[in-house]
Amino acid sequence: MNKLSERSVVAFRARLVAWYARHKRAMPWRGTRDAYRVWVSEVMLQQTRVAAVEPYYRRFVKKFPTLRALARARGEYVLKMWAGLGYYSRARNLHRAAREMVAKHGGKFPREVEAALALPGVGRYTAAAVLSIAYDKPLAVLDGNVARVVARLGGVRGDLRAAGRWKKLEEKAQELMGAESGETGKQEEVRKRGREEGKSTTGAALPHSMALRAGRRRDHGPADRLESLSYERRQDAGGTKPGEWNQAMMELGATVCTPRAPRCEECPVARWCRARKLGLVEKIPSARKKREAVKVTIAAAVFLDGFGYTLLVKPGRADADGYFSGLWQFPAVEVRKNATAELHRHLKESLHFHAEQLDPLPAAKHSVTYREITLRPFLILTGRLPKKKAARSAPLSWVERLAVSSATKKIARIAERSVAG
Ligand code: SF4
Repeated sequence: MNKLSERSVVAFRARLVAWYARHKRAMPWRGTRDAYRVWVSEVMLQQTRVAAVEPYYRRFVKKFPTLRALARARGEYVLKMWAGLGYYSRARNLHRAAREMVAKHGGKFPREVEAALALPGVGRYTAAAVLSIAYDKPLAVLDGNVARVVARLGGVRGDLRAAGRWKKLEEKAQELMGAESGETGKQEEVRKRGREEGKSTTGAALPHSMALRAGRRRDHGPADRLESLSYERRQDAGGTKPGEWNQAMMELGATVCTPRAPRCEECPVARWCRARKLGLVEKIPSARKKREAVKVTIAAAVFLDGFGYTLLVKPGRADADGYFSGLWQFPAVEVRKNATAELHRHLKESLHFHAEQLDPLPAAKHSVTYREITLRPFLILTGRLPKKKAARSAPLSWVERLAVSSATKKIARIAERSVAG
């Protein structure tokens, strides 16, 4: 990004915001400024595509139209409404946070960033998104999409998630938003205490911009060029609403400035883009090292009694629970060599059950982040289901409708097909 005159900066902002107004995609949560709904949508959108979120969001806010309604609901029911979206800790935190907001904040999402960050599962990104969209707080968001846009605009190379670089990008995003407010000191405090969904926190000390304002303006490369933009932007009275600005940046990253093959010819801010000018678009951001896949085999026991009922257990350390999202699951164990023998042993130890026969069912592949899992279900026909405190029975054909993980659903489907066929 080259040095920009005040007019250019105004043009930059105007073009991005006008482009957003024309091209923003319709989404069920767009247009609302209800902090509760903004919060739900932002939590659902973490690591999940918009198209996948839409039906879940609609159903969720229909069942729980207000924060108080969510707080009143049973945890099991909340998980059921979430089932299929994955990353279930998000739903548990959402529910816990709703209860906390009823207890401490009068049933409303708090307006102060520190109070928002103290809620379960609310980190820097979520707090900035909710507070900017619902309450006009000048807090810039930085997710993967915005980081890519900011880096390309300024020609910033390297792994964007690298320590230090992400923090720098947060500062740049905040400066681009151009907000000056009483939040600044608090944000610095928040950065120290911030914790989140794998994202770091933003501060807004803006020391370089202040130097620029004092007239000591020098160009030290892309970072300074971004600063020159933020400096000019902040001189512009009025300004765009923080929530609109954040959404415009996110939308640009999601639809035009995409990771691969960005559509620069359609980009509203292409003329200010340093990466484009230098032919670095494909090189920014640099590819991240992929974590090597770990192969895991899980043997699961599908009990079936004469009435078509099966046994589900509450996750426990012995039951390979990390692979079933902490939800009701079939008794299961991670195995290494002999799946049958190891599952036999597990059932004996955890359920005091001696299985006469374990009938192997077709295996299925499943992946969770870097883990490549082979699910090996075994059918156990029995006159009576084993008894266990943290266990429940349910018709096998119902399992898919319960609050269970997609791995459990896969196992249930395989077993149902085998029993029917
Ligand atoms: Fe991204 Fe291309 Fe626009 Fe630069 S010109 S911001 S690389 S889409």
